[in-house]
Amino acid sequence: MAVYTGILPITQDETGLAVVMGHEIAHAVARHSSERMSQQMAAQGLGGVLSAAVGQSPTVTQNVFLQAVGVGSSLGMLKHGRSQESEADHLGLIFMAMAGYNPDGAVAFWQRMDARENSASPPEFLSTHPSNGTRIADIQKQLPEARTYYKGR
Ligand SMILES: [Zn+2]
Repeated sequence: MAVYTGILPITQDETGLAVVMGHEIAHAVARHSSERMSQQMAAQGLGGVLSAAVGQSPTVTQNVFLQAVGVGSSLGMLKHGRSQESEADHLGLIFMAMAGYNPDGAVAFWQRMDARENSASPPEFLSTHPSNGTRIADIQKQLPEARTYYKGR
């Protein structure tokens, strides 16, 4: 799993970073690649790394996460199919809510991605994760369920 610094202007804050990491962890949990991770590890890893990450550099963030869950791959560079993307969006919303981040932040994140799609220097994440109206509409449909997992911090 890898999170590139190019995404940071779009994540903007901890909640935005939780969207990206929740999504990537969901790919791992759903076994979209050879990496495997339990749901419990996913929720603990996400909560742990994000609280540790506040005020620290992206490199530190990534290292802390790798130590916390013992995974090191490049999931973020794989291009998944549309159904896998949809599943990762769905699970990712639930994971970020379980970790204490408002899942509504996912809509704002993908809207920022949308705005960057045709820019001169789109982030690496966009090449494997095209933003589109369908993704945002699907996430909006999944939000009521995800909100039931959100208890705040
Ligand atoms: Zn994905």
